[in-house]
Amino acid sequence: MSDSKVKGRVQEPNVRVNNFNEVELGFNDEEAHLEASRCLNCPKPRCMEGCPVKIQIPKFIKAIKDNDLKLAYEIITESSSLPAVCGRVCPQEKQCEKMCVKGLKGDAISIGSLERYVADVAMKNDYASTAKKESNGKKVAIVGAGPAGLTCAGDLAKNGFSVTIYEVLHKAGGVLTYGIPEFRLPKSIVQKEVESLKKLGVEILTDVPVGNAITIPELQDKYDAVFIGSGAGLPKFMGIDGEDANGVFSANEILTRINLMGAYKSLSKTPIKKAKRAYIIGGGNVAMDAVRCLKRLGIETHLMYRRSEEELPARKMEVEHAKEEGIIFDLLTNPVRILTDDNNNVIGMEVVNMILGEAGEDGRRSVSEDESSKHVVDCDMVVMALGTSPNHEALKNSNIVLTERGLISVENSKTSLDNVYAGGDAVTGAATVILAMEAGKKAANEIINALL
Ligand SMILES: Cc1cc2nc3c(=O)[nH]c(=O)nc-3n(C[C@H](O)[C@H](O)[C@H](O)COP(=O)(O)OP(=O)(O)OC[C@H]3O[C@@H](n4cnc5c(N)ncnc54)[C@H](O)[C@@H]3O)c2cc1C
Repeated sequence: MSDSKVKGRVQEPNVRVNNFNEVELGFNDEEAHLEASRCLNCPKPRCMEGCPVKIQIPKFIKAIKDNDLKLAYEIITESSSLPAVCGRVCPQEKQCEKMCVKGLKGDAISIGSLERYVADVAMKNDYASTAKKESNGKKVAIVGAGPAGLTCAGDLAKNGFSVTIYEVLHKAGGVLTYGIPEFRLPKSIVQKEVESLKKLGVEILTDVPVGNAITIPELQDKYDAVFIGSGAGLPKFMGIDGEDANGVFSANEILTRINLMGAYKSLSKTPIKKAKRAYIIGGGNVAMDAVRCLKRLGIETHLMYRRSEEELPARKMEVEHAKEEGIIFDLLTNPVRILTDDNNNVIGMEVVNMILGEAGEDGRRSVSEDESSKHVVDCDMVVMALGTSPNHEALKNSNIVLTERGLISVENSKTSLDNVYAGGDAVTGAATVILAMEAGKKAANEIINALL
């Protein structure tokens, strides 16, 4: 009998390029049982070593086999407060599934899809637990409603703290809301997770720019502790000629307009001018999200990356999906300058072919330009997806100590300021949802130990 993994259903590429609905449709009951029954329930589970928040993976999968989905949900939520999110966007192939024994000789168990299945069933049936300890009289302020801030808030609220989150945008969720597209992570799922935090008593104040409307020192005066989870939302650019032209965007701006402001909807008040041909520069998940969003707006979309397909940092699955959707990959190519007309509108790019060299200490192959290969490509939109760094608006007037890389310096989640903790992308630089959640959890534990 075949022991291949059960393939989840997906929307067909020719259909999904015309909508923003979720691409992956998830397991139904039968598929989930079949996949769960492949798990060996190893007594020494390697998969857990690969999970940053140490979910009891074999135990929750056994509960699926036993048809006890409530128990499966309880087991997952002991360690993770956002399972419907993580089941969808965690890079499982580099974490739990990479370590799965079954993967040594065949297909690893689809742990992420099983986690998502349990979380979706729990949401449908309202399993969410709102159990919490009695109030301990302590107040904590959280800066930023991304995965780090939300996780820290949830853990503190469950332990009897009064928690207030200050969020600059008009909706909570951080990158989950403004960055990751609807077709990978439906916003209704993020908002349900946010609602369950509110049920725990967490107060979320939106449209509040910390650093301006209220400063960190003011929060220190008002609260017993402060957690900073302000992320890394400042986009990087290349510094080439023409980058200030009309038609050049950061991927963050494009994704925020589309995901947070709903620019893809016909009645949107913030529509994106439809380009004829767009080049998205970069090869990570952000580039993949931006290029796939623009394709859905009916634009001819090219992804330009300076290394080869093998080095693409994006998740393999996202690359496959992008290819199926007809994204054109221009690999081993890099922009030299952006060309404009008299009104400073983008009309094309001068680009150069790249040559791969040896791998450096970090394992990444070096690249150099093939000077003789410079040529021009026509386009009317260029989107830079080159990574992000922390935006320090929140830290104004605080004298908080930063690292050489400009990240918030922490020791055991504690910053240089009294009773101020930090975690997530603001501390690590752009990373992943699960690592931000782990940091939020750790900081919550430190706060509990310090204040109780
Ligand atoms: C497009 C995109 C796709 C991604 N895809 C994946 C993926 O598939 N899988 C994965 O694991 N990771 C992915 N990531 C990375 C992941 O989303 C981040 O690592 C994670 O969201 C970091 O969480 P955080 O809470 O530290 O920060 P964020 O999610 O950035 O949240 C920070 C919050 O703080 C708020 N804030 C900032 N400044 C202030 C201020 N002055 N006052 C008040 N509030 C403030 C912001 O508005 C934001 O809501 C992706 C990132 C991007 C941009």
